[in-house]
Amino acid sequence: MYKTDHEFEKYFNLFDGKRLRSFVNFKMCNNVLRIERGRWLRQDVNNRKCTLCNTKEVGDECHYIFKYPLFTKDRNSVLPTRLCRNPNMYTVQNLMNTVNKRKLVQPCSLYQSSYTM
Ligand SMILES: [Zn+2]
Repeated sequence: MYKTDHEFEKYFNLFDGKRLRSFVNFKMCNNVLRIERGRWLRQDVNNRKCTLCNTKEVGDECHYIFKYPLFTKDRNSVLPTRLCRNPNMYTVQNLMNTVNKRKLVQPCSLYQSSYTM
């Protein structure tokens, strides 16, 4: 979904240990976000809405990175405002493929936080 070229992923040089594992799991859709849990249960995408906020949006990576209200403060401290205005899957893909370590820290933190949701 995020990988467009068959080549060495540069983020392997940015992280190690638990943070690298978290990022890889997040990037590979091996996570416990609502969109994935619903897929495991063979639910329709429209029934995989986030149950943690009242936005009634599908609980996918885009929602938790760019829109989930609880992460607003962290998101604003890491991501540029223009990136968060009208996010889409292309925006998520660009974020996942960046080599800017600071920008990648947020998805890793979100993934780790998702286990406590
Ligand atoms: Zn939500």
